[in-house]
Parts: sequence; C-alpha cells; structure tokens
Amino acid sequence: MTTTATARRETVEALRSIRERWAELLLAIETPPEAGWPPPQLSQLMRAGDELLVEDRAPLVLREHPAPLNLGALDTALAVEAGIFDRCDFLAGYQQAEGDDPRRWHTMSEHGPGSRAHGLHWACVWLEGRVLDEDTAPEEQLDGTYAPAPFLPLSEFLLAELHTVTRAWARRILRTLGVRDTPVPDHPCPWCAGELTLHTAPGDAPSITCATGPACTAPVDLDRRGRRVWEWGDLIDLIGALGAGELLGRVGPSTS
Ligand SMILES: [Zn+2]
Repeated sequence: MTTTATARRETVEALRSIRERWAELLLAIETPPEAGWPPPQLSQLMRAGDELLVEDRAPLVLREHPAPLNLGALDTALAVEAGIFDRCDFLAGYQQAEGDDPRRWHTMSEHGPGSRAHGLHWACVWLEGRVLDEDTAPEEQLDGTYAPAPFLPLSEFLLAELHTVTRAWARRILRTLGVRDTPVPDHPCPWCAGELTLHTAPGDAPSITCATGPACTAPVDLDRRGRRVWEWGDLIDLIGALGAGELLGRVGPSTS
C-alpha cells in the first residue's frame, strides 16, 4: 500500500515530469509524427534562434491550432492540460481561503479563463504547492496579528486521486514522446561515416551514438558499450557538424 509520504513524493515527481516535458510536447504537435527525423526534441535545437519560453506559452485551449501536424500529441496535450486545470479549479474551491492573496488560484468563469491564462507550467507549480501542504499555517501580519492560512492541507483522499491521475498523465506524455534507438537516416557520423543512432528514453535527455566504436575520432566520450556518444550538451555541436558535412558534400566534387 502506498504511504502518504510516497504518494506525495510521486505526485510531485509526476507534476515536475509533466511541466519539464511540456515544451517537447508542444513542439511535437508541430512536428509530423511520420517524419521520424528530426525528433521534436532536436528540432528545437535545430531551429536556430527560435527560443521556446514554455512559461510564456498561453494555454492550448486559448490558442489557435490551425494545422496541428501530430494529432496524437495534440490529444495528449489537451487532455493533460484540461485535467491539470480542472484539478486546480476544484482544489481552489476546497482548499483556498477567501481574499486577494496573489497565491490564490482563480477559477475559470464566464468572465475569463482565470489563472488558466498563466498556462500549464504555473498550474503544475500551484498544484505542487497544494500537494506539499505549502502555506497551510496562519501567517503573522505586520501588526503582529495572525491571518488565516491561505490554504488548507490536502486530504488523503484528494492526494490519492492526484497521485493516480498525475502519474497517468506523466506516463501518457512520455508514451506520446517516446522514441527509442532510432537510426538517423542520411546523416553518417561526420568523423568516421559510421551509422548514427538516436536514443531517447523516458526520463532521460536524448543522446546520439556512433556505431563505429572507439575507432571513431569524434571529440566526445565513449558510452558503456564503447560507442562515441553525444549527450544532450554535445548535441548542438553534432548538429552543427552534420550541417557542415552536408554543406561540404554539396560544394565538393560530385561522387555520383
Ligand atoms: Zn563516428
């Protein structure tokens, strides 16, 4: 049986996983799934100067999606976003004191989206605060009196429900984004012409390996299996090298 402490920790982990993967999921909506290469994680890096500030992204329900390229990713994003926002609205009704405290969640109404306008990232952070029972003690004011706590502690029943749904959403996002050991087509290793493979696993940043092994002269470390590996921080260099290789191929003597 799951203890309260475990449920709390796993719910927080799920909420963090959701918001950490949110940028990838939004990118996936704009990437055709059948393309395979580049995967959404890398297309972000490949779009030079196109910074993604996910915290500033308006909620999907408030945005236009004239031509989503990956309907599976859009379905996942809409379902998770609606689920998170609905839980925030629900908990705000149960757990939140009256007043104009800036920590309050404002529920959606006929007058507007309320706190949903701040986007999913902020909603996940707010929910995490409720899961961790933050701001649930009376607070001393400047005049020495105490004001009621802004929030009530989360009941075990509500924690158990959040524990179930947030982990399901986090898993669904990973499944939607899940790509494993995908060969990189038409892009041999720039150092040894070996075959490159993209590795993505739930919970890990993507990496690329060269099949040649230690004989490959690429300036990166070897992985456990003795392959040159470009970890997340090195991928931008590899993509640069791949771009330069293509350029050389085009301007060099034709081999065909
Ligand atoms: Zn190589």
